[in-house]
Amino acid sequence: MAEMAAAAATVVQKYGGSSVADVAKIHTVAEQIAATRRAGKRVVAVVSAMGKTTDQLMKLAHEVSAAPDRRELDMLLTAGERIAMALVAMAVRDQGFPATSLTGSQCGILTNDAPGGARIVEVRPFRVQDALDQGQVVIVAGFQGTSWRREVTTLGRGGSDTTAVALAAALGADCEIYSDVDGIYSADPRTVPDARRLDHLSHDETLALARAGAKVLAADAVAYARLHGIALYARKTGTAAGESVVRVDAPSLRPWVVGVAQRPSAVLVQVPAAQAAQVQSIVAAFGLVPVTELAGATYGVLLARDVADAVDPAFDQALAQLTAAVGPQGLQRGTLVSIVGPAVGREPGLSQQFAQLLGHWTGTWLAHGLTLSALLAPEHADAAVRLLHRHFVVGEVAA
Ligand code: ASP
Ligand code: MG
Repeated sequence: MAEMAAAAATVVQKYGGSSVADVAKIHTVAEQIAATRRAGKRVVAVVSAMGKTTDQLMKLAHEVSAAPDRRELDMLLTAGERIAMALVAMAVRDQGFPATSLTGSQCGILTNDAPGGARIVEVRPFRVQDALDQGQVVIVAGFQGTSWRREVTTLGRGGSDTTAVALAAALGADCEIYSDVDGIYSADPRTVPDARRLDHLSHDETLALARAGAKVLAADAVAYARLHGIALYARKTGTAAGESVVRVDAPSLRPWVVGVAQRPSAVLVQVPAAQAAQVQSIVAAFGLVPVTELAGATYGVLLARDVADAVDPAFDQALAQLTAAVGPQGLQRGTLVSIVGPAVGREPGLSQQFAQLLGHWTGTWLAHGLTLSALLAPEHADAAVRLLHRHFVVGEVAA
Protein backbone atom coordinates (compact mmCIF):
# COMPACT_ATOMS: atom_id res chain seq x y z
CA MET A 1 0.00 0.00 0.00
CA ALA A 2 2.77 2.39 0.97
CA GLU A 3 4.64 1.46 -2.22
CA MET A 4 1.59 2.13 -4.33
CA ALA A 5 1.13 5.50 -2.68
CA ALA A 6 4.77 6.37 -3.25
CA ALA A 7 4.50 5.58 -6.96
CA ALA A 8 1.39 7.69 -7.50
CA ALA A 9 1.51 11.25 -8.81
CA THR A 10 0.96 14.03 -6.31
CA VAL A 11 -1.33 16.96 -6.93
CA VAL A 12 -1.57 20.15 -4.90
CA GLN A 13 -5.10 21.58 -4.98
CA LYS A 14 -5.85 25.01 -3.59
CA TYR A 15 -9.37 25.92 -2.48
CA GLY A 16 -10.13 29.61 -2.05
CA GLY A 17 -12.23 31.21 0.65
CA SER A 18 -15.42 31.16 -1.43
CA SER A 19 -15.00 27.38 -1.97
CA VAL A 20 -14.99 26.67 1.78
CA ALA A 21 -17.42 29.43 2.79
CA ASP A 22 -20.05 27.18 4.39
CA VAL A 23 -20.76 23.58 5.41
CA ALA A 24 -22.23 22.55 2.05
CA LYS A 25 -19.22 23.95 0.20
CA ILE A 26 -16.81 22.19 2.55
CA HIS A 27 -18.59 18.95 1.68
CA THR A 28 -18.25 19.70 -2.05
CA VAL A 29 -14.50 20.25 -1.56
CA ALA A 30 -14.19 17.02 0.42
CA GLU A 31 -16.02 15.10 -2.34
CA GLN A 32 -13.73 16.54 -4.97
CA ILE A 33 -10.65 15.61 -2.92
CA ALA A 34 -12.05 12.09 -2.46
CA ALA A 35 -12.66 11.79 -6.21
CA THR A 36 -9.05 12.83 -6.91
CA ARG A 37 -7.86 10.27 -4.40
CA ARG A 38 -10.01 7.58 -6.01
CA ALA A 39 -8.44 8.47 -9.35
CA GLY A 40 -5.17 7.26 -7.82
CA LYS A 41 -3.49 10.54 -6.95
CA ARG A 42 -1.91 11.65 -3.73
CA VAL A 43 -3.55 14.89 -2.65
CA VAL A 44 -2.30 17.94 -0.78
CA ALA A 45 -5.16 20.43 -0.41
CA VAL A 46 -4.30 23.99 0.59
CA VAL A 47 -7.24 25.94 1.98
CA SER A 48 -7.99 29.63 2.52
CA ALA A 49 -10.02 30.95 5.42
CA MET A 50 -13.80 30.52 5.10
CA GLY A 51 -15.48 33.25 3.05
CA LYS A 52 -14.62 36.73 4.31
CA THR A 53 -13.04 35.50 7.56
CA THR A 54 -9.72 37.29 7.01
CA ASP A 55 -11.46 40.64 6.37
CA GLN A 56 -13.57 40.12 9.49
CA LEU A 57 -10.61 39.23 11.70
CA MET A 58 -8.74 42.26 10.38
CA LYS A 59 -11.70 44.49 11.19
CA LEU A 60 -12.09 42.94 14.64
CA ALA A 61 -8.43 43.58 15.44
CA HIS A 62 -8.89 47.24 14.56
CA GLU A 63 -11.95 47.46 16.74
CA VAL A 64 -10.00 46.09 19.70
CA SER A 65 -6.92 48.21 19.06
CA ALA A 66 -6.26 51.34 17.02
CA ALA A 67 -2.86 50.00 15.99
CA PRO A 68 -2.80 46.23 16.53
CA ASP A 69 0.60 44.73 17.17
CA ARG A 70 1.76 43.19 13.91
CA ARG A 71 2.93 39.93 15.46
CA GLU A 72 -0.42 39.44 17.19
CA LEU A 73 -2.21 40.36 13.98
CA ASP A 74 -0.41 37.54 12.17
CA MET A 75 -1.30 35.16 15.01
CA LEU A 76 -4.93 36.18 14.65
CA LEU A 77 -5.14 35.99 10.86
CA THR A 78 -3.50 32.56 10.60
CA ALA A 79 -6.33 31.22 12.77
CA GLY A 80 -8.73 31.68 9.83
CA GLU A 81 -6.95 29.10 7.71
CA ARG A 82 -6.54 26.75 10.68
CA ILE A 83 -10.30 26.64 11.14
CA ALA A 84 -10.81 25.80 7.47
CA MET A 85 -8.11 23.12 7.38
CA ALA A 86 -9.49 21.22 10.38
CA LEU A 87 -13.05 21.29 9.04
CA VAL A 88 -11.99 20.11 5.58
CA ALA A 89 -9.90 17.31 7.12
CA MET A 90 -12.94 16.13 9.11
CA ALA A 91 -15.09 16.16 5.98
CA VAL A 92 -12.47 14.22 3.96
CA ARG A 93 -12.32 11.57 6.71
CA ASP A 94 -16.08 11.19 6.43
CA GLN A 95 -15.54 10.45 2.74
CA GLY A 96 -13.55 7.39 3.83
CA PHE A 97 -10.00 8.67 3.36
CA PRO A 98 -7.50 9.27 6.16
CA ALA A 99 -6.68 12.96 6.31
CA THR A 100 -4.38 15.14 8.41
CA SER A 101 -4.37 18.90 8.64
CA LEU A 102 -1.08 20.76 8.97
CA THR A 103 -0.28 24.42 9.62
CA GLY A 104 2.20 26.27 7.41
CA SER A 105 4.78 25.89 10.13
CA GLN A 106 4.21 22.12 10.34
CA CYS A 107 4.61 21.92 6.55
CA GLY A 108 8.08 23.44 6.76
CA ILE A 109 7.20 26.70 5.01
CA LEU A 110 10.04 28.95 6.12
CA THR A 111 9.76 32.70 5.56
CA ASN A 112 11.55 35.90 6.34
CA ASP A 113 10.47 37.99 9.30
CA ALA A 114 8.34 40.64 7.59
CA PRO A 115 5.04 40.71 9.49
CA GLY A 116 1.93 40.87 7.33
CA GLY A 117 3.68 40.11 4.08
CA ALA A 118 6.45 37.58 4.60
CA ARG A 119 8.27 35.93 1.68
CA ILE A 120 8.90 32.22 1.49
CA VAL A 121 12.63 31.51 1.59
CA GLU A 122 12.58 27.73 1.77
CA VAL A 123 10.15 24.82 1.92
CA ARG A 124 11.04 21.66 3.85
CA PRO A 125 7.95 19.52 3.38
CA PHE A 126 9.11 16.44 5.33
CA ARG A 127 5.93 16.04 7.35
CA VAL A 128 3.83 16.43 4.22
CA GLN A 129 5.85 13.73 2.47
CA ASP A 130 5.63 11.39 5.47
CA ALA A 131 1.88 11.82 5.68
CA LEU A 132 1.50 11.22 1.93
CA ASP A 133 3.67 8.11 2.18
CA GLN A 134 1.31 6.83 4.87
CA GLY A 135 -1.60 7.25 2.47
CA GLN A 136 -2.98 10.36 4.12
CA VAL A 137 -4.66 13.24 2.36
CA VAL A 138 -2.86 16.34 3.64
CA ILE A 139 -4.90 19.47 4.26
CA VAL A 140 -2.73 22.56 4.60
CA ALA A 141 -3.54 25.96 6.09
CA GLY A 142 -2.67 28.46 3.36
CA PHE A 143 -1.29 31.98 3.67
CA GLN A 144 1.18 31.24 6.49
CA GLY A 145 4.61 30.05 7.42
CA THR A 146 7.17 30.37 10.14
CA SER A 147 10.23 32.57 10.31
CA TRP A 148 13.74 31.49 11.21
CA ARG A 149 12.98 32.79 14.69
CA ARG A 150 9.97 30.42 14.75
CA GLU A 151 7.46 33.24 14.67
CA VAL A 152 4.21 32.63 12.82
CA THR A 153 4.04 34.78 9.67
CA THR A 154 1.45 35.53 6.98
CA LEU A 155 2.22 35.72 3.26
CA GLY A 156 0.16 38.78 2.29
CA ARG A 157 -3.46 38.93 1.13
CA GLY A 158 -4.36 36.10 -1.22
CA GLY A 159 -1.26 34.25 0.00
CA SER A 160 -2.83 30.77 -0.01
CA ASP A 161 -2.08 30.65 -3.73
CA THR A 162 1.59 31.12 -2.88
CA THR A 163 1.43 28.30 -0.32
CA ALA A 164 0.03 25.99 -3.00
CA VAL A 165 2.62 26.93 -5.61
CA ALA A 166 5.50 26.64 -3.13
CA LEU A 167 4.38 23.19 -2.00
CA ALA A 168 3.89 22.05 -5.60
CA ALA A 169 7.42 23.19 -6.41
CA ALA A 170 8.86 21.45 -3.34
CA LEU A 171 6.95 18.20 -3.98
CA GLY A 172 7.34 18.15 -7.77
CA ALA A 173 3.54 18.16 -8.00
CA ASP A 174 0.95 19.68 -10.32
CA CYS A 175 -0.82 22.76 -8.97
CA GLU A 176 -4.58 23.22 -9.38
CA ILE A 177 -6.20 26.42 -8.15
CA TYR A 178 -9.94 26.09 -7.42
CA SER A 179 -12.24 29.07 -6.92
CA ASP A 180 -15.77 30.12 -7.83
CA VAL A 181 -14.71 30.99 -11.40
CA ASP A 182 -13.74 28.43 -14.05
CA GLY A 183 -10.52 30.13 -15.09
CA ILE A 184 -8.93 33.44 -15.99
CA TYR A 185 -11.04 35.75 -18.13
CA SER A 186 -10.21 38.50 -20.60
CA ALA A 187 -12.08 40.87 -18.22
CA ASP A 188 -14.25 40.56 -15.13
CA PRO A 189 -17.49 39.02 -16.51
CA ARG A 190 -19.52 41.02 -13.95
CA THR A 191 -18.42 44.23 -15.68
CA VAL A 192 -17.90 42.92 -19.21
CA PRO A 193 -20.58 40.40 -20.22
CA ASP A 194 -18.74 39.23 -23.35
CA ALA A 195 -15.49 38.50 -21.51
CA ARG A 196 -14.03 35.18 -22.58
CA ARG A 197 -12.10 32.53 -20.73
CA LEU A 198 -8.42 32.38 -21.67
CA ASP A 199 -7.43 28.75 -22.23
CA HIS A 200 -3.66 29.21 -22.25
CA LEU A 201 -1.56 31.95 -20.75
CA SER A 202 2.10 32.49 -20.07
CA HIS A 203 3.31 33.27 -16.57
CA ASP A 204 4.23 36.78 -17.68
CA GLU A 205 0.75 37.49 -19.01
CA THR A 206 -0.89 36.06 -15.91
CA LEU A 207 1.39 38.01 -13.61
CA ALA A 208 0.65 41.22 -15.52
CA LEU A 209 -3.10 40.53 -15.34
CA ALA A 210 -2.92 39.82 -11.61
CA ARG A 211 -0.97 43.03 -10.97
CA ALA A 212 -3.46 44.92 -13.12
CA GLY A 213 -6.25 43.71 -10.82
CA ALA A 214 -7.59 40.43 -12.26
CA LYS A 215 -8.57 38.45 -9.18
CA VAL A 216 -8.21 34.76 -9.96
CA LEU A 217 -4.57 34.30 -8.93
CA ALA A 218 -2.40 36.19 -6.46
CA ALA A 219 0.45 37.99 -8.23
CA ASP A 220 3.10 36.75 -5.81
CA ALA A 221 2.03 33.14 -6.44
CA VAL A 222 2.33 33.58 -10.20
CA ALA A 223 5.78 35.12 -9.76
CA TYR A 224 6.80 32.11 -7.64
CA ALA A 225 5.40 29.72 -10.25
CA ARG A 226 7.29 31.52 -13.01
CA LEU A 227 10.53 31.30 -11.07
CA HIS A 228 10.12 27.55 -10.54
CA GLY A 229 8.53 26.72 -13.91
CA ILE A 230 5.33 25.41 -12.30
CA ALA A 231 2.21 25.06 -14.47
CA LEU A 232 -1.04 26.30 -12.91
CA TYR A 233 -4.53 25.03 -13.66
CA ALA A 234 -7.25 27.50 -12.66
CA ARG A 235 -10.63 25.77 -12.34
CA LYS A 236 -14.02 26.07 -10.69
CA THR A 237 -14.67 23.98 -7.58
CA GLY A 238 -17.15 21.17 -8.06
CA THR A 239 -17.32 21.19 -11.85
CA ALA A 240 -15.32 19.49 -14.54
CA ALA A 241 -16.07 22.35 -16.93
CA GLY A 242 -13.37 24.62 -18.36
CA GLU A 243 -10.01 25.75 -17.12
CA SER A 244 -7.20 28.16 -17.80
CA VAL A 245 -3.70 26.74 -17.98
CA VAL A 246 -0.73 28.93 -17.14
CA ARG A 247 2.50 27.49 -18.38
CA VAL A 248 5.92 28.30 -19.67
CA ASP A 249 5.34 27.20 -23.25
CA ALA A 250 2.03 29.00 -23.72
CA PRO A 251 1.75 30.58 -27.17
CA SER A 252 2.27 34.12 -25.97
CA LEU A 253 1.78 35.94 -29.27
CA ARG A 254 -1.92 35.19 -29.36
CA PRO A 255 -4.19 36.84 -28.54
CA TRP A 256 -2.37 40.08 -29.01
CA VAL A 257 -4.13 41.80 -26.13
CA VAL A 258 -4.95 39.12 -23.58
CA GLY A 259 -7.19 41.02 -21.25
CA VAL A 260 -8.42 44.17 -19.60
CA ALA A 261 -8.48 44.70 -15.84
CA GLN A 262 -9.07 47.34 -13.24
CA ARG A 263 -7.54 47.92 -9.84
CA PRO A 264 -9.28 50.31 -7.47
CA SER A 265 -7.53 52.24 -4.69
CA ALA A 266 -4.45 52.96 -6.76
CA VAL A 267 -2.10 55.81 -5.97
CA LEU A 268 0.64 57.27 -8.13
CA VAL A 269 3.32 59.09 -6.17
CA GLN A 270 5.52 61.39 -8.25
CA VAL A 271 8.50 63.37 -6.97
CA PRO A 272 11.68 64.96 -8.33
CA ALA A 273 14.43 62.33 -8.66
CA ALA A 274 16.27 63.76 -5.67
CA GLN A 275 13.40 62.66 -3.41
CA ALA A 276 13.15 59.11 -4.83
CA ALA A 277 15.15 57.40 -2.07
CA GLN A 278 12.95 58.91 0.62
CA VAL A 279 9.78 57.67 -1.09
CA GLN A 280 11.27 54.23 -1.76
CA SER A 281 12.25 53.75 1.86
CA ILE A 282 8.75 54.58 3.09
CA VAL A 283 7.25 52.12 0.59
CA ALA A 284 9.71 49.40 1.63
CA ALA A 285 9.27 50.06 5.36
CA PHE A 286 5.58 49.16 5.10
CA GLY A 287 6.27 46.08 3.01
CA LEU A 288 4.39 47.41 -0.03
CA VAL A 289 5.23 45.95 -3.43
CA PRO A 290 4.86 48.63 -6.13
CA VAL A 291 2.71 47.85 -9.16
CA THR A 292 5.42 49.63 -11.12
CA GLU A 293 8.05 52.36 -10.72
CA LEU A 294 9.24 55.00 -13.15
CA ALA A 295 12.70 56.51 -12.96
CA GLY A 296 13.90 59.71 -14.62
CA ALA A 297 13.94 63.40 -13.83
CA THR A 298 10.72 62.56 -12.05
CA TYR A 299 10.52 59.42 -9.97
CA GLY A 300 7.14 57.73 -9.81
CA VAL A 301 5.82 54.74 -7.89
CA LEU A 302 2.42 53.22 -8.46
CA LEU A 303 0.86 51.55 -5.42
CA ALA A 304 -2.45 49.81 -4.90
CA ARG A 305 -4.32 48.30 -2.00
CA ASP A 306 -4.32 44.47 -2.12
CA VAL A 307 -8.02 44.10 -1.36
CA ALA A 308 -9.84 47.24 -2.45
CA ASP A 309 -12.36 47.61 0.36
CA ALA A 310 -10.56 45.81 3.20
CA VAL A 311 -8.89 47.27 6.27
CA ASP A 312 -5.22 47.67 5.30
CA PRO A 313 -3.32 49.62 7.95
CA ALA A 314 0.09 49.24 6.30
CA PHE A 315 -1.24 50.84 3.12
CA ASP A 316 -2.97 53.67 4.98
CA GLN A 317 0.04 54.40 7.17
CA ALA A 318 2.37 54.37 4.19
CA LEU A 319 0.11 56.85 2.39
CA ALA A 320 -0.01 59.10 5.44
CA GLN A 321 3.79 59.16 5.63
CA LEU A 322 4.12 59.68 1.88
CA THR A 323 1.66 62.58 2.01
CA ALA A 324 3.64 64.13 4.86
CA ALA A 325 6.90 63.66 2.94
CA VAL A 326 5.93 64.85 -0.54
CA GLY A 327 2.81 66.95 0.03
CA PRO A 328 -0.71 66.08 -1.15
CA GLN A 329 -0.01 67.36 -4.68
CA GLY A 330 2.58 64.56 -5.12
CA LEU A 331 -0.13 61.89 -4.79
CA GLN A 332 -2.67 61.08 -7.46
CA ARG A 333 -5.45 58.64 -6.59
CA GLY A 334 -7.79 56.69 -8.83
CA THR A 335 -8.68 53.37 -10.37
CA LEU A 336 -6.04 51.80 -12.55
CA VAL A 337 -7.47 50.56 -15.84
CA SER A 338 -5.13 48.41 -17.94
CA ILE A 339 -4.78 46.37 -21.08
CA VAL A 340 -2.35 43.46 -20.90
CA GLY A 341 -0.69 41.52 -23.67
CA PRO A 342 2.32 41.01 -25.90
CA ALA A 343 1.05 43.87 -28.09
CA VAL A 344 2.18 46.36 -25.45
CA GLY A 345 5.64 47.47 -26.40
CA ARG A 346 5.52 45.72 -29.79
CA GLU A 347 2.57 47.12 -31.71
CA PRO A 348 3.12 50.52 -33.32
CA GLY A 349 0.32 52.94 -32.54
CA LEU A 350 -1.08 50.95 -29.65
CA SER A 351 -0.68 53.66 -27.02
CA GLN A 352 -2.17 56.15 -29.45
CA GLN A 353 -5.30 53.99 -29.84
CA PHE A 354 -5.42 53.59 -26.07
CA ALA A 355 -5.13 57.33 -25.53
CA GLN A 356 -7.78 58.08 -28.16
CA LEU A 357 -10.23 55.60 -26.66
CA LEU A 358 -9.80 57.04 -23.20
CA GLY A 359 -9.48 60.58 -24.46
CA HIS A 360 -12.66 61.92 -22.94
CA TRP A 361 -11.56 60.86 -19.47
CA THR A 362 -8.47 62.63 -18.29
CA GLY A 363 -5.93 60.42 -16.62
CA THR A 364 -2.26 59.60 -16.37
CA TRP A 365 -0.96 56.85 -18.67
CA LEU A 366 1.83 54.41 -17.99
CA ALA A 367 3.34 51.53 -19.95
CA HIS A 368 5.12 48.88 -17.92
CA GLY A 369 6.10 45.43 -19.19
CA LEU A 370 3.09 43.85 -20.90
CA THR A 371 0.75 46.44 -19.40
CA LEU A 372 -0.57 49.78 -20.57
CA SER A 373 -2.50 51.55 -17.82
CA ALA A 374 -4.45 54.70 -17.16
CA LEU A 375 -5.20 56.09 -13.72
CA LEU A 376 -8.79 57.27 -13.99
CA ALA A 377 -11.45 58.68 -11.71
CA PRO A 378 -13.17 55.60 -10.18
CA GLU A 379 -16.59 56.45 -11.65
CA HIS A 380 -15.22 56.08 -15.20
CA ALA A 381 -13.45 52.76 -14.69
CA ASP A 382 -16.24 50.35 -15.66
CA ALA A 383 -17.07 52.19 -18.88
CA ALA A 384 -13.39 52.43 -19.77
CA VAL A 385 -12.89 48.70 -19.22
CA ARG A 386 -15.86 47.86 -21.47
CA LEU A 387 -14.60 50.17 -24.19
CA LEU A 388 -11.06 48.83 -24.08
CA HIS A 389 -12.30 45.24 -24.07
CA ARG A 390 -14.53 45.81 -27.08
CA HIS A 391 -11.76 47.48 -29.04
CA PHE A 392 -8.70 45.44 -28.10
CA VAL A 393 -10.06 41.97 -27.24
CA VAL A 394 -13.36 41.50 -29.08
CA GLY A 395 -12.39 43.75 -32.01
CA GLU A 396 -9.14 41.93 -32.51
CA VAL A 397 -10.79 38.52 -32.71
CA ALA A 398 -13.44 39.82 -35.13
CA ALA A 399 -10.82 41.39 -37.40
N1 ASP B 1 -7.38 34.30 3.69
C1 ASP B 1 -6.32 35.12 3.16
C2 ASP B 1 -6.90 36.34 2.48
O1 ASP B 1 -8.10 36.50 2.47
C3 ASP B 1 -5.43 34.36 2.24
C4 ASP B 1 -6.09 33.84 0.99
O2 ASP B 1 -7.30 33.92 0.85
O3 ASP B 1 -5.39 33.32 0.13
O4 ASP B 1 -6.16 37.14 2.00
MG1 MG C 1 -9.25 34.60 1.58
